[in-house]
Amino acid sequence: MRTPRVVVIGAGIGGLVSALLLASRGFDVAVVERARSPGGKMREVEAGGARLDAGPTVMTMPWVFEEIFYEAGAILSDEVTLHRVETLARHAWSENERLDLFADPARSIDAIGAFAGKREAEGFARFCSRAELIYRTLRESFMLAQRPSPFDLVRRAGVSGLPNLARISPFATMWSELGKYFADPRLRQLFGRYATYCGSSPFAAPATLMLVAHVEMEGVWQVAGGMHRLAVALEELARLKGVTFHFGDGAKRILVESGCASGVETECGEIIRAGAVVMNGDVEALRAGLLGAPAKSASNGSDRAQASLSALTFAMRAKASGFPLVHHNVFFSREYRQEFDDIFSRRRLPRDPTIYVCAQDRGDDDGPRGEDRLFALVNAPAVDGAGEISAEELRRCEETTFQALAGCGLEIEAAPQSITRTTPADFARLFPATGGAIYGQASHGWMASFTRPGSRTKIPGLYLAGGSAHPGPGVPMAAISGRLAANALTADLASMRQFHPAGTAGGMSTR
Ligand SMILES: Cc1cc2nc3c(=O)[nH]c(=O)nc-3n(C[C@H](O)[C@H](O)[C@H](O)COP(=O)(O)OP(=O)(O)OC[C@H]3O[C@@H](n4cnc5c(N)ncnc54)[C@H](O)[C@@H]3O)c2cc1C
Repeated sequence: MRTPRVVVIGAGIGGLVSALLLASRGFDVAVVERARSPGGKMREVEAGGARLDAGPTVMTMPWVFEEIFYEAGAILSDEVTLHRVETLARHAWSENERLDLFADPARSIDAIGAFAGKREAEGFARFCSRAELIYRTLRESFMLAQRPSPFDLVRRAGVSGLPNLARISPFATMWSELGKYFADPRLRQLFGRYATYCGSSPFAAPATLMLVAHVEMEGVWQVAGGMHRLAVALEELARLKGVTFHFGDGAKRILVESGCASGVETECGEIIRAGAVVMNGDVEALRAGLLGAPAKSASNGSDRAQASLSALTFAMRAKASGFPLVHHNVFFSREYRQEFDDIFSRRRLPRDPTIYVCAQDRGDDDGPRGEDRLFALVNAPAVDGAGEISAEELRRCEETTFQALAGCGLEIEAAPQSITRTTPADFARLFPATGGAIYGQASHGWMASFTRPGSRTKIPGLYLAGGSAHPGPGVPMAAISGRLAANALTADLASMRQFHPAGTAGGMSTR
């Protein structure tokens, strides 16, 4: 019998990875994407005549993509050029309080010692060991595996792994655990910020998210030509494997026949019949019925308890002076708790925001420049259920943002037409049913990671891939999710003996 066709809804990272791997395994794959280009949140915008990344900018865990390209018969470094940065990020609290973290931990220890004293440097060394322990404990058993339940996790850890599982403190909050390593509130703030990589508050996220710090300390890479280039490389390789892309045409309905997913009807009215469907859009779109009534109850996760962070972003072509920018820069607020109370409790833009600035033309060194391509990001609440953020509130937040940067010494001059803003409402429009939450559900509380839906849904033949599904948001996680969906689909269809994909089915690729 012929290999069945698979339709992938969405060309975000998870969708691209699923499509590429399935096509490499011999499936006939079509991708339906409402936008005109691939990448989803990994998007580019134009500002002042220049194109720049307006989504993810921190590239970690490149080995995830090396494995995916390798399985598809390609070499990542042939398709995209990666450069490992020495300075992970430059952090500032004022003009006189700056701290760099480095890829070399010994340099970070020295820098923390000079910034906050010997005890804090020792605390950092202990923190690094703990973050690594959490990462090593959860890497195979949680991150790379199909979504486990807490019980599965204990079972996978086995008797020998149980002490480590207990030591990762799943029930403590990140903020309280950080207090065991850092007395200096600035350092607690710096390392607490890693919770925001999963769209969460460090005051509510579990201590297990400290593993993000280890991921970053394992290395941060720059992609030549911008992060969006990675999405383009995945699309190009997928096309070579025979994937067909339908850009500018959204999926309107997932067809369900005899209880199984049987294809997609597009906004343009095209019916694409298929043996299986992979949904890369946010799982909330299914729950909201945007993909039709039959698909509404497909999710196998809990209803979203709390939406993750959204963002207010500024992509700029600008002249920057006064502050020695490196590629990644963070300017911290004075009252961190208040910032997250504003966002998650009062559901308003933070009065005193922490600001991330990516200087996209700079690397480890700073130097005199003409114009920079800058991308600034302020955490913001999702707008779902809380109405739009008013123009006045947006204006005030923008003013505070640039004042705060100036307070740390960074002067930015940009013509109004050289700034492209993206608000939570814009993110909500770009990514249906998310309310602008760009990381799926918030990871608040120890159960949150177990309530995200896994690859398989309650509807046979319908699978989930992307940041709103297990193992969660972030570029490498969304890619892993895409691979897990491809693996589940391949295994399920291979178990129905009439289907025999041409490639090697299932399994984790290793060199
Ligand atoms: C501003 C910003 C900064 C970020 N920074 C970082 C960072 O530095 N590092 C990091 O690792 N991660 C970062 N992230 C998170 C990361 O970008 C995402 O977690 C990841 O890219 C999500 O991938 P995804 O597979 O979930 O797909 P998405 O990017 O969510 O894409 C889903 C795609 O599905 C399409 N779609 C939805 N519904 C339909 C439909 N009905 N029909 C057709 N198509 C549909 C959408 O148009 C979209 O293209 C950032 C995100 C944002 C927005």
